Amino acid sequence: MPTLLNPAGRLVRLTLARDLVRSIRSGHPWVYRDALRDVPQAPAGSVAELYASDGRRKIATGFYDPASALAFRVCLPEGGRLDDDWATARLAGALALRSSVAGSQTTGYRLSSGEGDGLPGLVIDIYGDTGVVKLDGSGPEGFWNAAGIGEWLMERLSLAGIVSRTRSDEGAAIVAGRPLEEPEFLEHGLRFTAHVHRGQKTGFFLDQRENRQFIRTLAAGKTVLNLFSYTGGFSVAAGAGGATKVTSVDSAAPAIATADRHWMMNGLPEENHTGVAADAFDYLEQTGGKGRRWDIVVVDPPSFAPNAKSVERARAAYTRLMTAAAKVVSPGGWLAASSCSSHIAESMFLDILQSAMSQARRRGRVATITGQPIDHPWPLVCPELRYLKFVLLELS
Ligand code: SAH
Repeated sequence: MPTLLNPAGRLVRLTLARDLVRSIRSGHPWVYRDALRDVPQAPAGSVAELYASDGRRKIATGFYDPASALAFRVCLPEGGRLDDDWATARLAGALALRSSVAGSQTTGYRLSSGEGDGLPGLVIDIYGDTGVVKLDGSGPEGFWNAAGIGEWLMERLSLAGIVSRTRSDEGAAIVAGRPLEEPEFLEHGLRFTAHVHRGQKTGFFLDQRENRQFIRTLAAGKTVLNLFSYTGGFSVAAGAGGATKVTSVDSAAPAIATADRHWMMNGLPEENHTGVAADAFDYLEQTGGKGRRWDIVVVDPPSFAPNAKSVERARAAYTRLMTAAAKVVSPGGWLAASSCSSHIAESMFLDILQSAMSQARRRGRVATITGQPIDHPWPLVCPELRYLKFVLLELS
């Protein structure tokens, strides 16, 4: 059996300074450093036992990173041994959940969503015959054995190889087999590629899969503007749904080149797609000023609020962006607005959208609100891990 965890050094003993017992027992996966009584020296990723503030009751077993604000990640809140059998059982559970996503029409999916699958800090994405293991920080990098996980995946799925990436993204390493650099995969029957070494995240934004399907079902006969398009996921979905003209805008020129390629790979008419490498704010200002309008405008920006301190600034930026986007939606058209910041809760995002509608002098009707798909689950007790909001508005 592959070794899934790195052989742990000394077992670390941690004691809570605050009463977080209930939260941990109900499945919260994190303890911040300032909630610990002391922060002993130990290598990142060391196995640790967490005790209640009385120092006697053992609450959970997990792993520890003294250098991170997120010092302790819970693996086992219910006791038991933290070993390869535990990891195998969790991985098998994660795989079972994906049977409703992975199939002949969808071969790109998230096999492990880290904390959401009880596998803290471990993200695994599958793109056709290539797997990507992404460890989220030095704690997970010390705790998990990427090579062993690669081996486990190779044994269970028919894969050509596995690549591992780190949070700091200092490049990718091949950990098993002979993975392709840019594997091809299917999403609801549409063909895409992911650059698993250099692409953003692990190469593709799998989390928008079902939202792209919404756009596909609305697109027949429509003109579509896809802002922050990356490699054209929403654009291709719209084209496949029968959109007459689709414009993809992203500041990254290589992403636009790939969007063009994805469009052609799906047999869509070349003249119906325009890729524009530009800043989305500038593009809206220029085209909006000239009176251009689209029937569907998709807005999926990067997170404007990377931390709690930046929320106010982010709110202003989202409002400015959504106002400009609303102005270029044709009467009766659609605005598909996303936010991937976990610091902007759904209620705040709806508030932002309402301010934007009012500044753009438009009225919005909510058709649907969604978030992450089934292969990106999150523990109910930890709404911080629900990051994606997708709001589909019809504008009068
Ligand atoms: N909707 C995409 C994912 C978008 S990720 C999909 O379905 O795959 C956010 C994208 O915004 C990235 O590709 C990034 O290059 C781009 N980006 C960041 N800042 C930008 C800006 N100011 N103008 C245009 N694009 C920008």
